[in-house]
Amino acid sequence: MNLMNHEKHYNTLHNYYLQTYQKKVFKIALNGGFTCPNIDGTVATGGCTFCSYMGSGDFAGNKLEPLKVQFEKIKSMMHQKWEEGYYIAYFQANTNTHAPLERLKALYEEAITLDPHIVLLSIGTRPDVLPDDVIEYLGELNTRMPVQIELGLQTIHQVTSDLINRAHDLACFDDAVKRLRQKKIEVVVHIINGLPFETKQMMIETIKHLNTLDIQGIKIHMLHLMEKTKMGYQYKKNPWKLMTLEDYVDVTVEQIGWLRKDIIIHRLTGDAPQAMLIAPDWTKKKFVVTNEIDKKMRHMNLWQGDYDEKERLA
Ligand code: SF4
Repeated sequence: MNLMNHEKHYNTLHNYYLQTYQKKVFKIALNGGFTCPNIDGTVATGGCTFCSYMGSGDFAGNKLEPLKVQFEKIKSMMHQKWEEGYYIAYFQANTNTHAPLERLKALYEEAITLDPHIVLLSIGTRPDVLPDDVIEYLGELNTRMPVQIELGLQTIHQVTSDLINRAHDLACFDDAVKRLRQKKIEVVVHIINGLPFETKQMMIETIKHLNTLDIQGIKIHMLHLMEKTKMGYQYKKNPWKLMTLEDYVDVTVEQIGWLRKDIIIHRLTGDAPQAMLIAPDWTKKKFVVTNEIDKKMRHMNLWQGDYDEKERLA
């Protein structure tokens, strides 16, 4: 499947969906009322220092409403912009496998029947909250409805991981990917560029490591410093140098050059509620960011995976 073109020198999710489903596909973020084991003490307390109190699901539905109500509300909002399409039921906020198996089964089974046009169930979680019985069940569910797991990693570097209180290591992440792929479950990885004290080389090493794993997609986010987060307080108290737009474009373009050619890029920017954003201000202009990335790749005549391919052939 060739998803690249003159405009976009990398595999965009938009092109992937169009080729796969021949229609627009909407992701509908549902809130199953989960907590996070990195906040509630199961694994650690305090959470990842960049995480907002909404559990990194700032645009999901209202957890107090039934899934059907959340789904219909978001669906009708989507249809104000686009007339028709398919849907992805997306459990986004917090850690969406952090519950007993019976509760997970009830929620997921309900979610996939919310609408006949749902084509995928997407579940955001941590690598340390995927016990064997959950993976076994997801593997079975995957034979009835495609399942995609969005797995938070953020960085491969333990020193950064400790600093931001991720509370799991890389071996745990690698093992989760391996066990999910044994059940043929699609894996999409989240990483963040611009974490404190990470160099360009460290961010590229994260991509090179991901190339060695059987992953199908990636979301590359820029660091947002948000109000009411530990990192936001740390920054206000003792500011450090943040990435500029130029830095972000430079690093991300090089990461795309290294990223394996078959991996689908789901995102190159992030979303943060504007009222809660402390910095960097340029992150508000998502279209500028992607335009600059596209422009630079065209100017360099660089395509996704070029560096990786060259190194493999050397
Ligand atoms: S694992 Fe996710 S939900 Fe939990 S604290 Fe970290 S970013 Fe927030």
